[in-house]
Amino acid sequence: MLNFFFNFASKTKHKVFMKKHNFYAGPSILSEYTIKNTANAILDFADTGLSILEISHRSKEFQAVIDEASALVKELLEVPEGYSVLWLGGGASMQFCMLPFNLLKTKASYLDTGTWASNAIKEARLFGEVDVVASSKDANYTFIPKGYEIPADSDYFHFTSNNTIYGTEMRFDPDAPCRLVADMSSDIFSRPIDVAKYDAIYAGAQKNLAPAGVTLVIVRDDALGHVDRQIPTMLNYQTHVKKGSMFNTPPVLPIFSALQTLRYYKMLGGIKELERRDLEKARVPYDAIDSSRMFEGTVTDTADRSIMNVCFVMKAEYKELEKDFIDFASARGIVGIKGHRSVGGFRASLYNALPIESVHVLVEAMKDFEATR
Ligand SMILES: *Cc1c(COP(=O)(O)O)cnc(C)c1O
Repeated sequence: MLNFFFNFASKTKHKVFMKKHNFYAGPSILSEYTIKNTANAILDFADTGLSILEISHRSKEFQAVIDEASALVKELLEVPEGYSVLWLGGGASMQFCMLPFNLLKTKASYLDTGTWASNAIKEARLFGEVDVVASSKDANYTFIPKGYEIPADSDYFHFTSNNTIYGTEMRFDPDAPCRLVADMSSDIFSRPIDVAKYDAIYAGAQKNLAPAGVTLVIVRDDALGHVDRQIPTMLNYQTHVKKGSMFNTPPVLPIFSALQTLRYYKMLGGIKELERRDLEKARVPYDAIDSSRMFEGTVTDTADRSIMNVCFVMKAEYKELEKDFIDFASARGIVGIKGHRSVGGFRASLYNALPIESVHVLVEAMKDFEATR
C-alpha cells in the first residue's frame, strides 16, 4: 500500500514545485522543506508505517512533534520563563474573542489600523469597555496612527503588528502603561520580538508558519486567571496551558508543518537572519515602485511600509491598465498579486518562504510592462 503511495507521490512531485511565483497573502507560500517533509509524513510518519493523518495525537511520536515545535518557538523568539506556547484551533479570528474573554476585566485599549484590528475591537466590546486610542480608518488605513495616548487604567493595549490588507506594519514593540497584546499573524518570525513586553501574542499560522488550521499563542502565565467571568473550557487559555494544547485533539497536521518551518528557520540562522533577508527582499519592490512612472505605493508614510505585504496601484492616468498587468504578470508565472478589494490595485506578499528571485521576476515584469505602454 505504501509503495502505491510513494509511486503516486513521485509521479506528482514535479507538480508541487512548479515555477510559480507565489505572492498570495494567505494561505501563502511555504518553504519547499516544509511541504516536502509534510508530504512525506502523510505517507509515512516518523517510521511508524502510518500516515500522520491517521495516528493518535497522544502517540509518543506526535508528542515529540508538539514538544519540539513549542521549544523551537521559545528558542527562536527567545521567549522568557513564565510563558506558555499554545497551538489552538479557530484561527486568529478566534483570538479576537478568546483574548478579551481571558484578559479584559473592565476596559481595554485598541489601536485601529485595519480590518483585522477592527474585527478584534468588535469582539472585545462583548466583554467590556473598549477605548480605541486612534484610528486611520478615515484615510482607508493608509498609515499607522502616531502620538496617541494609552490610558494606564486599561487592562491591556492591543495592536496588529502587520496590517496584511493595507501593507502597513509596526516593526517595533510599543511601550504601554498596561499589559501589551498583539496580533502578529502576518509578520511573526520576521523580526526579533521583545516577548517580555507582552502578555499575549497570537498568530494564525497560514502566513509565515504552516497551512491554515492552527493558531500560535504565546501567553504570560501569570496574566491568566484574573477575570471574574465564567469562561467556557475550550476558550479558557488555562485549559490549554495545563494540558499542553492537548485538552482535545489539536490540529495535528498543521502543527507538524509548523515544526518543519521552525526547523527550517533555525537552519537558515534564526530570526535575525530572517529579518535581514526580509528587509533585503522588501527593498526590491519598494525601490521599483518609487522609481516607477506607472506604479505608486498606497501607504502614505513610508516609515509604515510593511516588509511582508507590499501594496501598490497604478497612478491615476494608467488606472485602466491594472487588469492588463495582472494578465501580463500571470503569463510569467506570477500569482496572487491582486490587491484586496478594499484597497484595489496590487499586493505582493513577501513572506519568509518567498525566494528573492520571485521578487526580481515581479519587478522585471513591472519594468517590462511599463516599457510597452
Ligand atoms: C489573516 C489574518 C487574520 C485572520 O486570520 P484567520 O486565521 O483567518 O482568522 C487576523 N489578523 C491578521 C493580521 C491577519 O493577517
